[in-house]
Amino acid sequence: MKKPVYLDYAATTPVDPAVADAMVAHLTLDGVFGNPASRSHAYGWQAEAAAEGARGEVAALIGADPREIVWTSGATESNNLALKGVMEGQAPGHIVTSAIEHKAVLDTCAWLETQGHQVTYLVPDAEGCITRAQVEAALTGNTRLVSLMLVNNELGVVTDVASIGAMLRERGVLFHVDAAQAAGKMPVSVSGLQVDLMSFSAHKVYGPKGVGALYVRRSPDVVVRPQIHGGGHERGMRSGTLATHQLVGMGAAFALAAEHLSVEAERLEQLRTRFLDTVLAVPGVVLNGSGAARVPGIMNLSFEGLEGEALMLGLRELAVSSGSACASASLAPSYVLKALGRSDEQAHSALRFSFGRFTTEAEVGFAAGLVAQVVVQLRNARGNRRAL
Ligand SMILES: *Cc1c(COP(=O)(O)O)cnc(C)c1O
Repeated sequence: MKKPVYLDYAATTPVDPAVADAMVAHLTLDGVFGNPASRSHAYGWQAEAAAEGARGEVAALIGADPREIVWTSGATESNNLALKGVMEGQAPGHIVTSAIEHKAVLDTCAWLETQGHQVTYLVPDAEGCITRAQVEAALTGNTRLVSLMLVNNELGVVTDVASIGAMLRERGVLFHVDAAQAAGKMPVSVSGLQVDLMSFSAHKVYGPKGVGALYVRRSPDVVVRPQIHGGGHERGMRSGTLATHQLVGMGAAFALAAEHLSVEAERLEQLRTRFLDTVLAVPGVVLNGSGAARVPGIMNLSFEGLEGEALMLGLRELAVSSGSACASASLAPSYVLKALGRSDEQAHSALRFSFGRFTTEAEVGFAAGLVAQVVVQLRNARGNRRAL
């Protein structure tokens, strides 16, 4: 069977072949396989050098000091470590987040509520934006942490994190940002954005699954208590033998991302224009979050009067998703679109298309033509059924 065209880069990306090569060189006897914590021989020293080199590459993409990077198993763990690490075991405090965060933030907040903490879930406007004024109005004397995502994984909408960060720094409130969908897609600078904690994942940036990082600003104000104990790795914040090949993969992926960033953003912008020109010309097709600042690779479209699931059946030659991969196991409509004020019907009629490094113009042309054709066909079929 011919594989469908992959248009689901927001769910995960293929590992770049150069990244895979770098990883393979850190596994076998003839490669760098040692334990980075082995201090008594060259195998350990080489592995440590590889891990530290990768740490430097991740830090470089986001303008951090390498000592501010804590390795994790992915952005899910990074979000857990940031939120629980700041709040857990402390006197009850208040967190501000939003209703359109990734489940790794929302479920962690729900758990912290069971531990006596209070959480405010900000509701975005109809375009998916959370504003600085909204965040400021939600702060109480007891607010310890604000957690917002930089780029929303379902919509591609960008939060004005720089302005919110400046306000929070002034107010002395810690700021965590989930940047899993931002890294490699737009410039990200931890100092420019004035964040204290920031989550990253390798597999959204052409690196391997199962590795990520948490940026922890070096300051006595930013204290993150470990969630995984043993061995005292990562300055005590996250124990466990460093997975050298995974770290090298993430480092290589982030270095490549820095190289590709500006050219790639422009190319994706062109592909997006080409796609939307065709698809939005079909009546009743709406781009969700169109009025907001967005990254070019992620497009969430609602198809008035049609079921996303029926549409996907007609689009079997395309690999796309309804909502996010994490939520699509359930048949409930996207909680993100619901938070934007869309009806169940509108939320059910949405599909996410996401483009990336290996998406070609021919693929986008094919996808756009197919979507337009299938939407018209489904509408006609419905019309005919009505007429009978
Ligand atoms: C993918 C994603 C995550 C989870 O990252 P994993 O590395 O898969 O755990 C968290 N937040 C956002 C915004 C994501 O897109």
